[in-house]
Amino acid sequence: MSFGEPKLISAAPAFRKSLLLWFFKNHRPLPWRKKTSAYRTVVSELMSQQTQIATVIPYFEKWVKKWPDFAALAQAKESEVLAAWAGLGYYSRARHLWQLARQVVEQKNPPRTAKEWEKFKGVGPYTAAAIASISFADPVAVVDGNVVRVLARLTASQKQWLDRSASVKDFTPLANALIDTRKPGDFNQAMMELGALVCRKTSPDCVHCPVARWCQAKALGIAERLPKFAAKTSRKVVVHRALVLQSEKLLIKRYPLSARRLAGMAEIPLLSDLAINPPSSPSLSKRRTIGSVTYEEQIYHIKADVDIRRHSAKNPELEWVKLNQLTDAALTGPHLRWLRDWLNPDGLTKRDKPL
Ligand code: SF4
Repeated sequence: MSFGEPKLISAAPAFRKSLLLWFFKNHRPLPWRKKTSAYRTVVSELMSQQTQIATVIPYFEKWVKKWPDFAALAQAKESEVLAAWAGLGYYSRARHLWQLARQVVEQKNPPRTAKEWEKFKGVGPYTAAAIASISFADPVAVVDGNVVRVLARLTASQKQWLDRSASVKDFTPLANALIDTRKPGDFNQAMMELGALVCRKTSPDCVHCPVARWCQAKALGIAERLPKFAAKTSRKVVVHRALVLQSEKLLIKRYPLSARRLAGMAEIPLLSDLAINPPSSPSLSKRRTIGSVTYEEQIYHIKADVDIRRHSAKNPELEWVKLNQLTDAALTGPHLRWLRDWLNPDGLTKRDKPL
């Protein structure tokens, strides 16, 4: 326990009051807050895992328009669900959400506690606490990166963590000691909102912070230095991909449903899927980072000759998709975006030129 914790716990009633007053006046009008339901909370929480709110909003709005409740989602086809998720990344979340809807509709009463929600695949302690506290007033604290930052600063904790999950584990007891048991959902959202809007990673707005009077880091002038995490080691990986077109169709690779990553999703195939070596220089180079790995994706325009057609016919993971049906092919977001950028709006004229 850091030296700031007992002081903060003893001030808990006044702390909650200040925080909630600020939250009610200042929270962002996010679509899942304007109209609430357990279903909308579940969808927003699963979409928001490892994804920025600004990215989630248009996906959420389209999703709940198409599938407004658990029953509607349970009726959807898996391929439709994956296509609607394309671009959000971490596609196992889409499959978990769809499976969760199918399980919930089979139950007489939806689960109410965080412990019950945690039994669903893809719902970890954080998501379960968010769903149960916001939708069913279960008094369980939600601890995410924003909450860790707020608590580390309030208590001026100088500890250095190896990763986020270790810090979450350390701060969960304190967050549970502070929670407002009458309004746990609002309290949790208020803590996260404070971290997102006021107690920001850089330039925290301590002057306008509703809980500044209890903040040890502010008093010591060290807010921006907390919390402390060990430096991450990053890795670079180069992948070579083949862009193969034939008669208005593009060759794609679809991962089997048993695959550990990207099950059921499609990507631009690797050169190795077609047993070819990288030609002298790629037509296009794209970079993206997933976790601590930066992928440099080198894409080569490959002619659909006899060898390529023979390989594609032999490999069950390769399939041809019409250019005007790319959106429904459950391609991963970056690959769909790169292909759209490359194709003209009419999807026709650029394809025979080098990228
Ligand atoms: Fe964060 Fe500053 Fe508020 Fe402390 S006073 S909780 S550092 S915004």
